[in-house]
Parts: sequence; C-alpha cells; structure tokens
Amino acid sequence: MHVMSDKIVILTGAGISAESGLGTFRDEGGLWARHRIEDVATPEGFARDPILVHEFYNARRAQAAKAQPNAGHQALAQLAAQHPGEVVVITQNVDDLHEKAGSQGVIHMHGTLSGALCSACGHRWQAELVMQPQDSCPHCAGTTTRPDVVWFGEIPYAMQTIETHLAEADLFVSIGTSAQVYPAANFVQAAAAAGARTLEFNLEPSAMATRFDDCRYGPASKTLPRWVAEILG
Ligand SMILES: [Zn+2]
Repeated sequence: MHVMSDKIVILTGAGISAESGLGTFRDEGGLWARHRIEDVATPEGFARDPILVHEFYNARRAQAAKAQPNAGHQALAQLAAQHPGEVVVITQNVDDLHEKAGSQGVIHMHGTLSGALCSACGHRWQAELVMQPQDSCPHCAGTTTRPDVVWFGEIPYAMQTIETHLAEADLFVSIGTSAQVYPAANFVQAAAAAGARTLEFNLEPSAMATRFDDCRYGPASKTLPRWVAEILG
C-alpha cells in the first residue's frame, strides 16, 4: 500500500481530454479528420502552409476554450491538494483542462494552445485566440510567429525536469495515453528502474500494459475519482 509521503508522478494523455470533447489525431471524427498530420503538426507542414496550420490551431484553441474539465481532471487536482506528499502532473495535452480543474505547476511537455512562440528568437507569450502568420513577435518584431506546441519531429519540453521527477517517483501513473509515442514510452521504464511502482489507467489495455505493475480500465472520469478516494483514504 501507499505511504503518506509518497511522491506521485502522473502522465496524462489524450484519453483524459477526449472525455471533455477534445479529439485527437487518432480519432475518426472531428478536427483532425479533415487534415493530414504531416500538414498540420510538423515544422515542414508549417513552412509549407502557415495559414492552414494557424487556422487549424485557431480552431483547436476555440474548441479548448469552451471545453470543461471532467471528473478525472478534478480528481487529480483534489489529489494534489490533499495528498501530503508531492504530486507532479506531466501532460501530453495542449489544452488547459488540468489548470481549469485547479491543478498547479502542470508540465506541458508538448506545449500549450494558449502559447505563441517566435521561431526567430524563441520568445514566448500569451497567444491571441486567433493567430495568423503576420503576427509580430513582441520581442524582436519578427513575423515568424507559431503556436507554442511541440510538433512531430520536435523535442518535447522540460525533458530534464521530467527525468528528475521520474527518478524521484514512488508511484508513476499513466492516464489515457497509449504511451507508444517516445519519449513518453520510456517514462514507465525510467520510473520502474528508479524503484517506483507503476499504474496504468486506460479505456482498454495499451500496448504497454505488461510493463505496469497494475492497470485499471474504463473511462478516467470514473476510475480516477475512485482511485483518488482510495489514496486519500
Ligand atoms: Zn522574436
């Protein structure tokens, strides 16, 4: 059983946002269905057609602004607020549903829809709801503004910080991610190698399920509140 001072490191993926109505590139319907990944989620796609890419992220940003956190997000915020040990939330999601639920210090390894990034000087700022290629950087005035999201082929953010958290984890929890996309696929191994117990939440067993000590299946909005209630006793 868990210890009160346990450090809990949590990785969340698309599955937890899907229950709030935000689709992913793996879904058959929705925003992603009208585009190819290589056109809207790669640096090459952005170089080819920045207008298309901005329109795609403008639509996602508008959708995320209307989305509400679900009971899964709320359970994790409650856990962080009430667990005596440290709770770290790392997410692959670019929406702000964890923050809307009250989670603090969330590590967005794939960036956020609410961020703008200057490709020329690396300056970051709060994105307008509607971004366009001619938006100028407030720092260098360059017009190479892009969404501050990590595209396929780019290196995720905060990897060193994440490695440190994984090495310190007593419990590693993966939620709503197939964990097949590297480097997230390595997280369970890194945490286990450092001595953490590992737990997977998913709709159904992932390809990585055998690497976890324990797995719980079903919608995160149902399974997470139950688990958090157990942890908090
Ligand atoms: Zn700049």
